[in-house]
Amino acid sequence: MPPPVFRFAPSPNGLLHLGHARSALLNFDLARQSGGRMLLRIEDIDTTRCRPEYEQAIYDDLAWLGIAWEQPVRRQSEHLPLYREAVERLTREGLIYPAFESRADIARMVAEKDKSGPWPRDPDGAPLYPGTGKHLTEAERAQRLRAGAPYALRFDMDAAVARAGLLSWIEEGAGPDGETGSVPAQPEQWGDVILARKDTPTSYHLSVVIDDALQGITHVVRGQDLFRATGVHRLLQQLLGLPQPVYRHHALVLDEAGQKLSKSTRSTALRELRAGGMAPDEVRRLVGITSR
Ligand code: GLU
Repeated sequence: MPPPVFRFAPSPNGLLHLGHARSALLNFDLARQSGGRMLLRIEDIDTTRCRPEYEQAIYDDLAWLGIAWEQPVRRQSEHLPLYREAVERLTREGLIYPAFESRADIARMVAEKDKSGPWPRDPDGAPLYPGTGKHLTEAERAQRLRAGAPYALRFDMDAAVARAGLLSWIEEGAGPDGETGSVPAQPEQWGDVILARKDTPTSYHLSVVIDDALQGITHVVRGQDLFRATGVHRLLQQLLGLPQPVYRHHALVLDEAGQKLSKSTRSTALRELRAGGMAPDEVRRLVGITSR
């Protein structure tokens, strides 16, 4: 049996906080306890928000916590052609269409729809895509593309679900409602999600499944905030012929108000805690990962 492969996959768009520490330490401990491998992936697709100093801070903070990972680190920004290929494949299969509405157009459409009863929201609370991109004629699409209009490439969720059939994943942790074991994937909860944009050849959902497969990840261990997104990931894995890892979603670290931590709150940033004299073992204790 090849060893299990774990990964921690932060985005360098802010400083790591206690929630990241929980994820990273859990991955690292599970890898060590199982004789497995620990990989690090930098999810730096969003060039408007990612910064080199945050990437450096990730390396420094993880090393300070006592975490070791294999080299080389995979940086998503170095693999854009690969994601583009997957977008092309799904486009050829008729599962992606360009949508030309701006964010403001979408907000207006949702406000309009909300007047006749609440328009459906995805599990993160964002309105499902209300637009008409899917129903444009080929001629209309071609005309807008020629005119250089910006667009998002959206997943035709109904077509994708019809193609893939019923899917599930193995959950070794738990979802927010205690779901565990074999969990049915419900990607349709997310509507026609964006898989790429005119100027960005991929999205979180697409690159995460491609990279997990390429890096041979057998165990995805991450926060419960990504539990429901796993349904979209399973669907993409199925359609792209990628293997499925097992998943372990862990409870989030919450602030005193019971809210999810944010990268913009300095007081829970590992860097601040360290500057304030906290030791790595104290961080472990705070996030409840003490099995050393
Ligand atoms: N890059 C994602 C984040 O920073 C995590 C991705 C994952 O673990 O699947 O929240």
